[in-house]
Amino acid sequence: MIAARTFAGQAVALFGLGGSGMATAQALVAGGANLVAFDDNPASVEAAAIAGIPTGDLRNLDWQGLAALVLSPGVPLTHPQPHWSAALANEAAVPIIGDVEIFSRERQVAAPVSPFIAITGTNGKSTTTALIAHCLKVSGRDTQLGGNIGVPVLTLDAPSVDKFYVVECSSYQIDLAPSLAPSVGVLLNLSPDHLDRHGSMQHYADVKERLLQHAGVAVIGVDDEFCRGIAARLESNGRKVLRISRAELPDDGFGFDGQAVIGQSEGRQTVRFDLTGIGSLRGRHNGQNAAAAIATLFAVGLSEGEIAAGLTSFPGLVHRMEQVGLVNKVLFINDSKATNADAAAPALASFKRLHWIAGGVPKAGGIETLEPLFGHVAKAYLIGEAADDFARTLGKRIPYEISGTLEKAVASAARDAANTGQDEVVLLSPACASFDQFRNFEVRGDAFRLAVTRIPGVQLFA
Ligand code: ADP
Repeated sequence: MIAARTFAGQAVALFGLGGSGMATAQALVAGGANLVAFDDNPASVEAAAIAGIPTGDLRNLDWQGLAALVLSPGVPLTHPQPHWSAALANEAAVPIIGDVEIFSRERQVAAPVSPFIAITGTNGKSTTTALIAHCLKVSGRDTQLGGNIGVPVLTLDAPSVDKFYVVECSSYQIDLAPSLAPSVGVLLNLSPDHLDRHGSMQHYADVKERLLQHAGVAVIGVDDEFCRGIAARLESNGRKVLRISRAELPDDGFGFDGQAVIGQSEGRQTVRFDLTGIGSLRGRHNGQNAAAAIATLFAVGLSEGEIAAGLTSFPGLVHRMEQVGLVNKVLFINDSKATNADAAAPALASFKRLHWIAGGVPKAGGIETLEPLFGHVAKAYLIGEAADDFARTLGKRIPYEISGTLEKAVASAARDAANTGQDEVVLLSPACASFDQFRNFEVRGDAFRLAVTRIPGVQLFA
């Protein structure tokens, strides 16, 4: 755990006592802050009090005397609250910050030269973060992986010069981290998302840009217009920018040609990393993620050989295009994280022919936007509430069956795929939320894995 010593002896209010809120509260207490924490869920307040966190009503505080109001990443700034408000904090000139800001300040004091890689973007954050951390670990570096990926950043080891921090940052965390200054900042891509919280695309892009403004090196995906604008602006402000692309080969940077990530300097090829055969990095979107990881790893001093060793051994993330098992020539892939059509698209695009298990609680628009990819589907196996609706969309274009449950879908798809005698893929990429049949997408993915485990003759991937 990182003790938040930069707040020693100072009054701090904290709102939001979920997983990372609790970790932040503990870091502040360990660092000697005079903390008062609150949550509108009484059970969370009680759990915090039992864990030794001072809790209380934030309305009774002397706001003029606060060093900071700390918000948990899950708490929107605009959320109406009797206990705090952005307006109240602004009036009392109290900075509103989050856990990444606290981490950033601690590192700045304890080990400002420790390598700190911060990753953001609309899509691919977790994959890229995990890939960078994996390559560093395989090369023997002391690697600390955390942030939005599920490990609160303040639960990592205390900063020291030999530690590599690899931190996934959501736009909310960047918004609450004004002194963020990573050694390498990575912005993968930008497309409309979370606009409910950020108001406009421009504001969302401005927040993401902040991750790069004080970065030693800025790695930027230049396949969308917002990111291209950011790259040009940072460069004209004298920042070091490395461009990456899934669609072209930048003259100075790293691009993906459909097979390999190629590094160029002044238009001349310097390195080439072939991704064919790396199952966990299938698809053009992973070309973008790998290009970003490679650019970053060179920037922090890894060699070409060290990077190649990390790429080829990357196991991928669970529930995201995760290779689960092989039965004769049939490969089973778990992409349970794809809870809407957009998220399922890269998986469908990654295979020329597949047996597709889809369904659950549908999102607005269903799977209509996937129509251009229907040609890749040999047969669909429909489950959950969406089954009838999806069957109507598929119509006569794709053979389908209404399997109902995931277990039945796996059994039917396994049988159909085996009967062809060819190399085949069975893909769970539901394009739906899970909660009609499962608690969450993780439980759904685990159920898929269990069903595959039970197929006679299966070889499981570790
Ligand atoms: P995030 O952490 O940003 O949500 P993940 O790495 O968890 O992203 O990937 C989630 C899903 O998003 C993947 O299953 C894949 O379908 C899609 N995806 C991954 N990388 C990219 C990318 N670079 N561009 C577009 N979509 C992507």
